[in-house]
This record gives sequence, C-alpha cells and structure tokens, in this order.
Amino acid sequence: MYEVRIIARTVLPVKLNQELTSYVDDIRIDGMGIVYITPEYPLYVADALPGEKIKLLVIQVDKYSGYGKVLKRLERSVDRQNSERQYLIDAGTAPLVNLKYDAQLALKQLQVQKLFTKQNIDVQVDVTIGMDQPTYYRNKTIVPVKWQNKHLTSGFYKRGTHELVPMDDYFVNDAKIDKAIITVRNILEKYQITAFDPDLEHGAIRYIMIRRGYYSHELMVVLVSNQKNILHELEISNDICQQLPELKSLILNYSPKKEYVLLSPNNRTLWGDNAIHDTLLGYNFIIGPNSFYQVNPQMTELLYDLAAEKAELKSTDTVIDAYSGIGTIGISVAHRVKKVLGVEVVPGAVADAQLNLQANKITNAEYILADAPAQFKKWQAENLKPDVVFVDPPRRGLTSSLIKATTDMSPERIVYISCNPVTLSRDAVEIMANGYRIDGPVLPVDQFPQTSHVESIAVFRKD
Ligand code: SAH
Repeated sequence: MYEVRIIARTVLPVKLNQELTSYVDDIRIDGMGIVYITPEYPLYVADALPGEKIKLLVIQVDKYSGYGKVLKRLERSVDRQNSERQYLIDAGTAPLVNLKYDAQLALKQLQVQKLFTKQNIDVQVDVTIGMDQPTYYRNKTIVPVKWQNKHLTSGFYKRGTHELVPMDDYFVNDAKIDKAIITVRNILEKYQITAFDPDLEHGAIRYIMIRRGYYSHELMVVLVSNQKNILHELEISNDICQQLPELKSLILNYSPKKEYVLLSPNNRTLWGDNAIHDTLLGYNFIIGPNSFYQVNPQMTELLYDLAAEKAELKSTDTVIDAYSGIGTIGISVAHRVKKVLGVEVVPGAVADAQLNLQANKITNAEYILADAPAQFKKWQAENLKPDVVFVDPPRRGLTSSLIKATTDMSPERIVYISCNPVTLSRDAVEIMANGYRIDGPVLPVDQFPQTSHVESIAVFRKD
C-alpha cells in the first residue's frame, strides 16, 4: 500500500525536455502564462498569454508544477503586442510588456474579480484605473551589479541564474534614474571597486539603489555594500556629485549578504543629506533610504484621493493609519478629520513620519513605532473607538489578530488598500465574518504598469 502511494505520487504528468502543444489557460500573479497539464498540475510559461496556442518545451519539472518555454506560437492572442523588449521578459521585470495596455488593465480587473469569486464574495470589481503614459513611472529602483567580461555590469539576474543580463533601459523607471545608474556604475568601474559575486561570495558592491523625487527632482544614491568601507570613498563621492547635479544624498548602506536580502539599517552618509524630499498631494515628505514610499507617485496621488473619498471622512472622525510608512496616508487626510493615529514597524520610517508631521505643520496626528497587530490590541485594551481604519499592509496582508482587534473596536468604515488581491480577498472573508459588509465596488488602480502587480482599494462598513 505504502509503495503504491509513493509510486502514485512520483508519476508526474510531464517529463523534462518533453515537447507539447497546448492552449494557455490563464496567467499567474507574476505574469507567467499557465498551461494546465491536468487540473492539478500547472506548467508556468513566460511570455504566454491566455488563449494562445503554443508549442512548448518542458524545462523544469517539480512535484506540484513545472516550467515550460515557448518554442513556437501557433495562435496569437489579439491582445499581444510586439514591444521589442524581450529582455524585460527574460529578466522578469516587466512580464506584461507584450500585452497591450488596455488588456493589462482588463486582466488585473479580472484577476481581482476571480479571487473574490473564489472566496464566494459577491462584489463588483471596477475597471482598473490606468495611466495615460504607462512607462518610465517608477521613482525608485535597486539593481544588482557584477563584474562580467572585465566590466562592471548593471542589470538583472536572469531568472534563477547567476548570470547578469546587462540592462540600460528598464522601461518602467524614471529615465533620469536609468541614466544615474549608468553614471554611478561607470564611476565605480573607474575606481575598480569590487562587486559582490554570488558564486565566489565576496566583493563589495551588491546593489545600486536610486530614488528621485517626482516633483522635487532630488536624487538619492545608495551604494549597498557587502563591506563596511569601500576604497576611494572620497573620490567616488566627488565624481558622483559632479556628474549628477541633482544629487542630494549619497549613502553607503553596509549590508552583508549573509544577513540581509537587500538593504540593512546601517547607513553612512558619504555626501549631502540623510534623506530626500518630495511632495504628494501638496504635502512635503522626507524619505530616508529604508523607508517605504510608493513607487508610482502619479498614481499614488490618485490612489490616496480615491481612498479618502471612499472613506467619507468627517471632521469629527478619529482615524487609524496602519502600516503607515512615512505617514503619507494619515498626513494627506489629517486636515479633514479630528485625529490620526499611525502605526509602523520600521524605526526609520516612523522617524520620517514624525518629521513629516512637523514639515506639514500637522498637530492632530501621532505616529507610533510598533508591530501593527500588537498596537491594535493595545488600542483595543485602551478602549479606543476609531471611526475609520486605513490599512495598507505589505503583500502578506493582515493577521487574524489585527482583523479581530479592528472589528472589535468597531469602526464605522475600514478602508483596505492592498498590493496583493490574494490576501485582500482572503482577509475580506474574515472581516465580513466579523460583522462587516463590503461597500461598493472594489477598485483596482494600476500602480505597476507592465508588471502583473495589482493595487486595489476595498471599503468595508459595519453591518
Ligand atoms: N501606507 C504607506 C506604506 C505602505 S507599505 C504608504 O502608502 O506609503 C507597508 C508598510 O507596512 C511598510 O512601511 C512596512 O514597513 C510596514 N509594515 C510591515 N509589517 C508591519 C507590521 N507588522 N507592523 C507595522 N507596520 C508594518
């Protein structure tokens, strides 16, 4: 019996290097096409759009799913466009670049709708609000560097490899950011600075991160390094400063690979200020290297406006801004309400939020450094009665304990801003089970054109 079970489990419906012809059934949240070999066994295929008929090669076979590669496209989707930017698909940084923009918006709406339907929630999902010019929109990027063929190369690691594909035009970054990466990289090359090599596991520079204020045009350059110091710091700083006239802040972030995935909290300012400024809806924001700040400033203004409108704020309201980052949501609504209470877990972000209150002369808001679920419990114990709760969590969504504390405090409205519809729809079930109904349509807002990420707003009201 035992043996039979083992055999049954190891018989997979595809073989490595097998060639197949099939229709593409769906698209995964990361933008890869899905071909269901059996209802339980999907193959993921890059640059394959739903409805297309493809000849594919199976390139990876895992226990529960596999990967395929398009050999030939036999029937093309009417929504396909040739962006002539195949390198973005290989890098995985803009997986939807070959899908017409209108179709990208429709796809995101459908994805959100499907996830709510799967949870048995009957709700209308509005048409995704898109950008007029859905390119070169990002105000921040972080790119790896590596010495390859005697040059310091910047670009993107080919999916699942240690091969760095050189990239100069990222298509989604502010074009000035793309240029700044090349400038910084060339300066580091000039001084022969080592780069962290993932195979050899040594070398200095791991990433170059750049932020640029959309309105302010202030530039921040962060050199993310596996070593505490780099050679020629002074010369490098002078060169960067000279060649990037918009530079306001140059930071060395000491981030040993063994301990940190990307940035660490260890910053040393090599030149200029510790942070840059930008404005959002007319408010000033100080943005430090470790603080989360929405990457699409044009769409963020729209997103916050819509969220505030849907929240139907009143001058008597006490409002919670949870997962508040540097306080952007709370600060942009503070003038309409009685009191804002914010909570955020990254110390640098809370410090920025406090400076941002002063910079905007806001006296009716307060930002607390804490884990959001823990702080919610505390508020509940203190018998706080908020009228509106904004939550804007990371991709993993809310915890049950936060949802329970929220609904126990019984706010009139919960405004959920989500960057992941999978966790939004999951959390919606729990919020609704605790006596709330979803109010009006869920609204997707395209913060991330050319990628498969979906941002949406959902409002819950007490039944
Ligand atoms: N509302 C902000 C930030 C949203 S991003 C904006 O729109 O700019 C999500 C934020 O949640 C990040 O700043 C992250 O640091 C914070 N965060 C993550 N886990 C948290 C937790 N357990 N408690 C509080 N904040 C958390």
